[in-house]
Amino acid sequence: MSRNRKSGATNTNGPECMAHGKRWRSRFHCILNQLRMNKEISKLEKSDIDRIPFAVCTCTHTSKGVPIEPDRRWESFPDGEYQGAERYFEEFLEELDKSTELYSLLKYHFSDLQTQGQLAGKSSARRFLLLFQKIHLIGDRELSRRSRNRGDPPQSRVADRVEQTVHLASLKREYIPLYLGSSGRKMRQYLSGKKKVNVTLKVEEGDKVFANIACRSKDAQAIKEKLVTEAEALAERRRIHEQTRADYRSHHGLGVDDWMDTNNESNGEDEDEDES
Ligand SMILES: [Zn+2]
Repeated sequence: MSRNRKSGATNTNGPECMAHGKRWRSRFHCILNQLRMNKEISKLEKSDIDRIPFAVCTCTHTSKGVPIEPDRRWESFPDGEYQGAERYFEEFLEELDKSTELYSLLKYHFSDLQTQGQLAGKSSARRFLLLFQKIHLIGDRELSRRSRNRGDPPQSRVADRVEQTVHLASLKREYIPLYLGSSGRKMRQYLSGKKKVNVTLKVEEGDKVFANIACRSKDAQAIKEKLVTEAEALAERRRIHEQTRADYRSHHGLGVDDWMDTNNESNGEDEDEDES
């Protein structure tokens, strides 16, 4: 339309989102209200009106800063279709009863959309006109049904959690208090930076220690490796400690009962062998 091209100079900010842009959202609401109140003419149902704001939204982020998946569907329509939809709306207006509020308000806002550069490219206003044409002309509501899928729907978050049981082969059952640390302090260190993790240790078949790990699937491998590595490191420290004790005992010719072990595994929770 030559009219809006000429007046493009008045458009300093470019087309904005009809549903959320500061300059247009209230006027867009007015347009939708008029169409809703005259649904026998507009052929828009309430469910259409409810869906349209999001369907034509061109925002890249929500008001809370969450990214919105761009709606690629609009790119598949050539410019000629958008231009055709604009002509269609003009003709729709001209066929209205000129004495009605519906006509005067729609005419007023539509003229401003044209002169203020809102009908350009695949702008929000143009999306609306194309969507309107599809519903009004052929009852095609597909464009109003924009997916709210942002690539991370709730069901995939649930599926994104995994549970695994890992045999901590190095860990003797009597090492468990050392391994967990006082009040689980060490376990929290092993898991630092990982969210929504739940680890339970259990002893089976007499002395085998298993860790049951529930966590996000992207963390599963790292957590498993960390727990195994820490168990091996602890077992190694205990081995050295017990070797040293045995050496000391044989060197001094002491019997088992003579060894003053202030650092054995049974009071291990208080042992601070933690280097970190
Ligand atoms: Zn928007």
